[in-house]
Amino acid sequence: MACGQLHIDLDAVIANWRALDALSAGETGAVVKADGYGLGAAHVARALAGAGARSFFVATAREGADLRDVLGPPAEIYVFSGHMAGDTDPIRDAALIPLLNSAEQAARHRVALPDAPYGVQLDTGMNRLGLEAADWAGLRDGLETGPMRLVMSHLACADEPAHAQNAAQLAAFTTMTEGVTVPRSLAATGGILLGPAYHFDLTRPGVGLYGGLPYASARPAIRLSLPVVQVRDLAPGETVGYSATYTAPAPRKIATVSGGYADGLIRALSGRATLYAGDTPCPVAGRVSMDLITVDVTGLRDMPDHLDILCPAQTVDDLAEAAGTIGYEILTSLGARYDRLYSGCITA
Ligand SMILES: *Cc1c(COP(=O)(O)O)cnc(C)c1O
Repeated sequence: MACGQLHIDLDAVIANWRALDALSAGETGAVVKADGYGLGAAHVARALAGAGARSFFVATAREGADLRDVLGPPAEIYVFSGHMAGDTDPIRDAALIPLLNSAEQAARHRVALPDAPYGVQLDTGMNRLGLEAADWAGLRDGLETGPMRLVMSHLACADEPAHAQNAAQLAAFTTMTEGVTVPRSLAATGGILLGPAYHFDLTRPGVGLYGGLPYASARPAIRLSLPVVQVRDLAPGETVGYSATYTAPAPRKIATVSGGYADGLIRALSGRATLYAGDTPCPVAGRVSMDLITVDVTGLRDMPDHLDILCPAQTVDDLAEAAGTIGYEILTSLGARYDRLYSGCITA
């Protein structure tokens, strides 16, 4: 088998959702955008629906339509990008709930689908998506008389509990939503950890479900094993890989594994990442290339048939740190070539 094996533990995803649900004051939704942060939205969403999740969030209407095919009628599917031009058909056909972001989107929805439910996204300081206070003040009466289902906003700095913007956004959200009669939602994973003042009626965890920071006590949900294609011995002075950036200082054994930057193991890991044979660390030697990584396995007594790059010894966030990025990016870059092997709950 020439491709990497991505082992996805759906029981860990469910356990993380239950733990975040236990922390949340009200209902707990699940964010499954970007193909469930790379783990496979269909499998993850089915598993979480089975565990009791009812509200799901995606980035785009197309993701929402695909998710509806998987989950069937009862789930609520919210779309962060709202009602964009061209999205009317999937919103209607898949019964999606767009989170309206602007006066333009509110007008589009009212004209195209006057009886179809919607939510409203408010900007409380992130300046990315959502109605600003003045727009909301002008549109609120009209929006509240229609089938409005949710009012939400998003925190920019929730992964830094001491950041002053958290309290400022909480205060803005509280003021802007005073007297609203529909459920309110402010917290993603980081916001859940800030405490119940941030939870309102519905929380929206994403990365914490998949084992990533800022949810430090998450159960790891994935293991990534890369098969060894070839092993060779190097004499002192021989070099490895593109641009010959690694030179053997002494006799060395180099294993070439299947997996590279085309699989989301980004080139910034060159010379910095570590692979594992069980608990034994083996450093990357030289450049990560498109399909292959070369690893110094001199220290191993027995040559395994694969080396792990994500495993208990090296979490998603450990690998992200080696690459100078965040766990979210490692997860959502997980390559399409891997065999995805699911364990845990039945996902027929
Ligand atoms: C992605 C996203 C989330 C989930 O955030 P996590 O940090 O992964 O928990 C929640 N709300 C919005 C608006 C998002 O864009």
